[in-house]
Amino acid sequence: MVTMIKHIRVKSALSKSGLKELDYSLNPYMGCKFKCQYCYAPNFTRDVDASKNWGEVIVIKDNILDILKEEVLAKKKGTVGISTITDPYQPVEAEYKLTRGSLDILLSHGFRVSIQTKSPLVLRDIDILKKFKEKVDVGFTITSMEGKLENAPLPRSRITALEKLSEEGIETWVFLGPIIPNFTDNVEEVIREVSKIKTRIVFDKFRYYKGLNFSEGNSVWWENIRDRILSLCKKYNVECHEESEDWIFEKRRKYKILW
Ligand code: SF4
Repeated sequence: MVTMIKHIRVKSALSKSGLKELDYSLNPYMGCKFKCQYCYAPNFTRDVDASKNWGEVIVIKDNILDILKEEVLAKKKGTVGISTITDPYQPVEAEYKLTRGSLDILLSHGFRVSIQTKSPLVLRDIDILKKFKEKVDVGFTITSMEGKLENAPLPRSRITALEKLSEEGIETWVFLGPIIPNFTDNVEEVIREVSKIKTRIVFDKFRYYKGLNFSEGNSVWWENIRDRILSLCKKYNVECHEESEDWIFEKRRKYKILW
């Protein structure tokens, strides 16, 4: 289906983040072409067209870079998550370059940036990432090696991109999730592939949001999966944490030293 592009002007670029590990979030786009079947973001998307036609309508925040240039001078420095609601390197980014522009502005003004994506398009910006490597980390979501339930670039291409970033000395991580009973709970292949790269895994289970057709696993199921992931990580010698663990706070402490 043809993507419909909408253009809007915004009054702010950085939002206060509700995530413990981030101070701000920045989303250059609304809507996401990758259209994962487990995506909860439509519930948090203000644009009704993008929310109701997830993956078919993408909203471009035309003036976000101008606003961001003002905000980086006025706001307290901190860690910015790019993006928290849509993928910052979905196909429109190749043309509009709002993620690239945001990275450049934030990093050159002393902010830290944590990127999360499913796209190797992030490699296009490796020049900026290398220049500011002490203030950047890049995470790739890999839910399964088959890329089940997603229209995103193949997981194999994400592994290749991770490898390249890691070789350049850029901090990377893998988000293994959301883990959905009977769909994405075959975790060994992901852990085995990730073990070949110098990176770490953060994992989490699926959480139900309105409009999704999957159910959350019960606590016994999750305890079994968690134990399995931890023992596989041990077997393959990969650093591995459940998302809610205290390492996030350690990370914050570590990076505050750099501010
Ligand atoms: S890449 Fe992320 S934001 Fe985009 S559809 Fe998938 S889960 Fe949603």
